[in-house]
Amino acid sequence: MAEQQQVTIPVITKKDEMRAFSRKQKLAGKTVAFVPTMGYLHEGHLSLIEAAKSHADVVVASIYVNPTQFSANEDFDVYPRNPDSDRLQLQAAGCAAVFEPEGSLYHQVPGAGDGSNVVGRESGHPDSHETWVTVERLQQGLCGVSRPHFFRGVATVVTKLFHIVEPDVAVFGQKDYQQWRLITRMVRDLDFPISIIGMPICRENDGLAMSSRNARLSPESRANALSISQAMAWAQQAVAQRQATSAAAIAAEVRQRITAAGGEVDYVQLRDADNLHEVADAAAQATLLAVAAWFPAKDRGTVRLIDNMVLGQLPS
Ligand code: AMP
Repeated sequence: MAEQQQVTIPVITKKDEMRAFSRKQKLAGKTVAFVPTMGYLHEGHLSLIEAAKSHADVVVASIYVNPTQFSANEDFDVYPRNPDSDRLQLQAAGCAAVFEPEGSLYHQVPGAGDGSNVVGRESGHPDSHETWVTVERLQQGLCGVSRPHFFRGVATVVTKLFHIVEPDVAVFGQKDYQQWRLITRMVRDLDFPISIIGMPICRENDGLAMSSRNARLSPESRANALSISQAMAWAQQAVAQRQATSAAAIAAEVRQRITAAGGEVDYVQLRDADNLHEVADAAAQATLLAVAAWFPAKDRGTVRLIDNMVLGQLPS
C-alpha cells in the first residue's frame, strides 16, 4: 500500500511568525518570492510556484479565501476548499512555507456572525475596518461592474499580505488579467519594493482555463463552458487574418457564441492590453479580449468563469 504523505512544510497562521520567517530568510542573504492564492490548487497555481522558484531563493505561498472581495450574494461559503491536499502540493512543488491566516488577517469584530469577520464602516460598528486600498481607474469596468467591492478587497488584502510576507517578488496569473494590471499599478504608485511577475494562463487539454471554480460546474456546463475559449480562439484568428478587427463586432460575435452554448454573459470586452483603456480597432495595438460568463453549477446556483486572450503582443 502506498504510504500516506505527511505534511512537513511549515504552515504559518500568525502574521508575526510569517514576518519573522521572511526576515530570517533575508538575514541569511536569501530572496523571497510570494504566490498568493485562495487554495484548491491546480496546475495553474503550481505554474506560478515554478516561476517563483526561478525568481528567488525561497518561495512562500498563501492560502486565504479573502472575505472582503466577496459580496453577500457571491460564492464565499461554497468556494471549494481542500487545505490538506493544497499543503502537500505546495510541499511537493518546493515551497518553503505556507501562510494560512484563517480568521486572523483582519481585526476580529465580535458578533460579525456572517463567517467573514470583517465588518466595514457602513455597519456603524465602532471597531470596524476603515482603511482600504483603491486603484481608482483600473478597478472600474470589466469585473468591477458586476463585482463592485472586488478590487478594493483584492488591493487591500494583497497590500496586507505584502506587508506581512515582505517578499522581493510576487507572482500573479494572467488568468485574472485585470487583477494583474491593477496590482502592477498599485505597486508602482505606492512604491512597494516588490517586482510583480505575470504568468500565462494554464488551460486544460481542451482549452478550458483552469480554475478552482471549474469543480463546481455540472458535466453539461463543463462541456458548454468550452464555448468561451473556442469563441476567443475564433477572435484571435479573425484579427490575425484581418477578417474582423472592429472591437464592437468581435465582442458581439463572441457574446453570441457563448450565449448560444447556454452561458449567461456578464461581459465581453476588448481593451488595450497594457492600460485597459477601451479600444475601437482590435488590430491597432495589443488588445485584451476579456470574458466573464455564468454557467449552471452542479449543486446550486451558477459558476462565474473568467477568461481572456491577448490579440497581438503582451505588455511587459
Ligand atoms: P486564486 O486561487 O484563483 O485566487 O488564484 C491565485 C493565483 O493563481 C492568481 O494569481 C491567479 O491569477 C492564478 N491562477 C488561477 N488560475 C490560473 C490559471 N489557469 N493559469 C495561471 N494562473 C492562474
